[in-house]
Amino acid sequence: MSRESFEGKPGLLDKLPKPVKKMFNWFRSYSIWPVHFVTGCCSPEYMQLFGPRYDLERWGVLPMGSTRQSDTLIFVGNVSRKMMLRAMTLYEQMPEPKYVVVVGACATSKGPFPESYSLVRVKDYMDVDVYIAGCPPKPEAQAYGILQLRKKILEGE
Ligand code: SF4
Repeated sequence: MSRESFEGKPGLLDKLPKPVKKMFNWFRSYSIWPVHFVTGCCSPEYMQLFGPRYDLERWGVLPMGSTRQSDTLIFVGNVSRKMMLRAMTLYEQMPEPKYVVVVGACATSKGPFPESYSLVRVKDYMDVDVYIAGCPPKPEAQAYGILQLRKKILEGE
């Protein structure tokens, strides 16, 4: 995902020396604060991530109720054209740098509803950083996806 500011100009952090940027990336990778857009039957699997068995908070993943403090937008389940307009508003409210994770076949490619007139693919509307495959993806797969996002943040410029 681009780390440019909303106006397309480099942000303040982009002018910092590389070691300092790496340090910021390390901080970010251990404090992923997602806001989730849960609209489908993948959600029971997603919810387990924050229960006692998987407990993603131990990795610094803290679900947020506000987009203004979030850096990751997670789509869970099918997304309709109408809901995507709302999701885009949420995305625009999030500060840079921000990331997008897509969970499940529906949000990735309309899943079992390829002929649907109302469902959309998230990738047609915004850049996606991590896809988590499955219908629904198991909590283990979703946790692995979060680890892949962490790796991507760590390796970022
Ligand atoms: S990917 Fe499967 S489990 Fe997830 S929302 Fe679509 S139909 Fe439901």
